[in-house]
Amino acid sequence: MARSSKVWDVVVVGAGNAAFCAALAAAESGKKVLVLERAPESESGGNSRFTAGLMRIAYNGVEDLKRVMPELSEAEIGRSDFGTYTEEQFLDDMGRLTEYRCDPDLTEVLVKQSLPTLEWMRSKGVRFTAAWGRQAFNIGGRFKFWGGLTVEAVGGGPGLVDSLTSIARKNGIEIWYEARALDLISDDGGVKGVRVKRKGKTLELKSNAVVLAAGGFQADPEWRTRYLGPGWELAKVRGTRFNTGDGIRMALQAGAAATGNWSGCHAVAWERNAPEFGDLAIGDQFQKHSYPWGIYLNAEGKRFVDEGADFRNYTYAKYGRVILSQPGQFAWQLFDAKVKGQLRDEYKIKQVTKRTGNTLEELVSKLEDTNQEQALKEIRAYNAAVQTDIAFNPNIKDGRCTRNLSINKSNWANTLDTPPYEAYAVTCGITFSFGGLKINSQAQVISSDGVPIPGLYAAGELVGGIFWFNYPGGTGLTNGAVFGKIAGQNASRR
Ligand SMILES: Cc1cc2nc3c(=O)[nH]c(=O)nc-3n(C[C@H](O)[C@H](O)[C@H](O)COP(=O)(O)OP(=O)(O)OC[C@H]3O[C@@H](n4cnc5c(N)ncnc54)[C@H](O)[C@@H]3O)c2cc1C
Repeated sequence: MARSSKVWDVVVVGAGNAAFCAALAAAESGKKVLVLERAPESESGGNSRFTAGLMRIAYNGVEDLKRVMPELSEAEIGRSDFGTYTEEQFLDDMGRLTEYRCDPDLTEVLVKQSLPTLEWMRSKGVRFTAAWGRQAFNIGGRFKFWGGLTVEAVGGGPGLVDSLTSIARKNGIEIWYEARALDLISDDGGVKGVRVKRKGKTLELKSNAVVLAAGGFQADPEWRTRYLGPGWELAKVRGTRFNTGDGIRMALQAGAAATGNWSGCHAVAWERNAPEFGDLAIGDQFQKHSYPWGIYLNAEGKRFVDEGADFRNYTYAKYGRVILSQPGQFAWQLFDAKVKGQLRDEYKIKQVTKRTGNTLEELVSKLEDTNQEQALKEIRAYNAAVQTDIAFNPNIKDGRCTRNLSINKSNWANTLDTPPYEAYAVTCGITFSFGGLKINSQAQVISSDGVPIPGLYAAGELVGGIFWFNYPGGTGLTNGAVFGKIAGQNASRR
C-alpha cells in the first residue's frame, strides 16, 4: 500500500456542509487541510446538496437577521413580519420534539451558536436570504414567517455546497473526489491518519487530526434494517447514495462510543414512485408536505394519522415512519379545490403519482391498490365530523378539528366537498439516521471508556444524541455548521 510522506494538519472526511465548515475553521490558522469526498465531483456535497438550504437559527428580531442577511432591504423588511425565534423557543422546540432526550450540553451549544455560526459563514462568503417562498404566508400583502424557520442559503442546497466548495478552494483547502476513507490509523496516542481509496488506489495518509463528517447510515439498506427495524429496507432514500455509515463504522472500530436514537430517523412523505436514491435534478421536490390541508388514506381506505397535529415542520419528519408501517408501505394524500392554492410547489412537478376526479366517487375509483368502498365511507365520515363552525386559518393552529372519529384531525380540518378532487400517492422517504457517534461540546469523539479519543472529531449527521424521534425542520444544516466549525477549530489546535 502506498504511504504518503506528507503530514496533513487536518484531514476532513466528507464534503457536505459540516465537512466544509470544519475545513474552513481549521484553515483559519493557516493549517494544511485535506477534504476527502467519496463521491465524484458531479455528485459531491452529500445530503447538504439535496436540501432546500433552510437553516434554523435563534434571533431576537430583524437586527439579528441582518447580521446574516445584510442585503435585506428596507422595502423587504417593511413587507415582512419576521417575528422572533428566541434561544428559549429553539430550546423548547428541541426538548418538546425529542421528548426531552436531546443531549442538553450539545443542544445548548447548537442553539447558542446558531446565529454566530451563520454570521461566521457569511463572513466567509456564504450568502443567505429570507425563506419567503417556503416559510411565510402572505397575509394582506405582508409575509408572516412561521415555525421559527426564516433563513435559507442562496441557491438552496446546491448553492450552499457550491459556495462552500469554492470558498474552501480559495482558502487553500485541497479536495480529493472519488476518495473514500476506509479506516482510521490510530495507536495508544490517538488518531494519526486515515486509510483512503482514491480512484481505485489505497493510500495511507498521516495527519495530526481527523474530522469525521461523512453522514449517517441511511443509504445502506442492511444497516437500516439492522438498526431501524424490519421494513426499513423498503424505504426510499431522499438524498445521497454515499452516506452508508462509513464514518460511524470507522470511529466505532477505533473505540468510539455509539449514542443516541439508533432505531430512529428523519423520514417524510415522499413520491411513491421516486427512484431508490435522491435525484439531484429533482432535489427535495419528491417530498409532499401539504398534508395538513387535506387527509391521508391508506390501502385499507382508512385514515391513520392526525394530519393537523401541529405545523408541518413539527410533524413531517416523523410521518414517514407512519407511512412505512401502512399496508403496502404507501398512502394517498387527498385534497379538494378549496385548498389547491395552498399546495406547495412540489405538487406541481411532472414526476407525481396524481389522480383527479370531479366527484368523490370518481376520485376513489382511481385509487389503485386501495379498498375503494371503504375509502369513500371514510371520506364521508370525516366530512361529517368536521367542526365547520370554527374558521379555517392556515397561519395559526386554528383548532378547526373533527370530533368522534377514531383518529381525529386537530387543526385545519377542511371538508372534501369542492371538485375537482386530487389524490397523490406517497411512500416513506428516509432523510437521515439519528443514532451515531458520541461527541462532547468541543466536538471531540468520546470513546466507549468515556474519554475523548485524541485527534478525532466529528460533526453533522453521523453524531448521535441530538435528534430523537422527531426534528425541528432546518436544524440539520445548522447542527453540521455549528459542530463542524467547532471541530475544525479544535482539530487545527492539535
Ligand atoms: C432531500 C433533503 C432535504 C433536506 N432539507 C434540509 C433543509 O432544508 N435544511 C436542513 O437543515 N436540513 C435538510 N436536510 C437534512 C440535511 O441534508 C442534513 O442534516 C445535512 O446536510 C447533513 O450534513 P452533513 O455534512 O453531516 O452530511 P452530508 O451533507 O450528507 O455530507 C456527508 C459527506 O460524506 C461523504 N462520505 C460518505 N462516506 C464517505 C467516506 N467513506 N469517505 C469520504 N467521504 C464520504 C458523502 O459523499 C458526503 O459528501 C435535508 C435532507 C434531504 C435528503
